[in-house]
Amino acid sequence: MPSDKPTSSSDKVNDLDKDISIISSFIHIYCQGKHADKENLCPECQDLLDYAYQRRRLCPLDPKPACKNCPIHCYKPEYREKIRQVMRYSGKRFYKLALFHK
Ligand SMILES: [Zn+2]
Repeated sequence: MPSDKPTSSSDKVNDLDKDISIISSFIHIYCQGKHADKENLCPECQDLLDYAYQRRRLCPLDPKPACKNCPIHCYKPEYREKIRQVMRYSGKRFYKLALFHK
């Protein structure tokens, strides 16, 4: 995670942090399941996370719509396909984990 995050505690920043922490969890689940059984992301998934973070931070829409409803489609097709796979793979597992920890 880059260390140049703003330190402001506005709602907008909190939303951003929340979104990023969700996407980060999803990418970790995906990478550990698909690529390697390690703590750290592989370079490909790290790259995807960096990209997602940048896109999310630079989003000009406020409030930001769900990506599938977004008129801009800021993700490049290559990354959009990757993130779609991550969501599909990790979505189920994520909710299972969440239920398990209740
Ligand atoms: Zn990976």
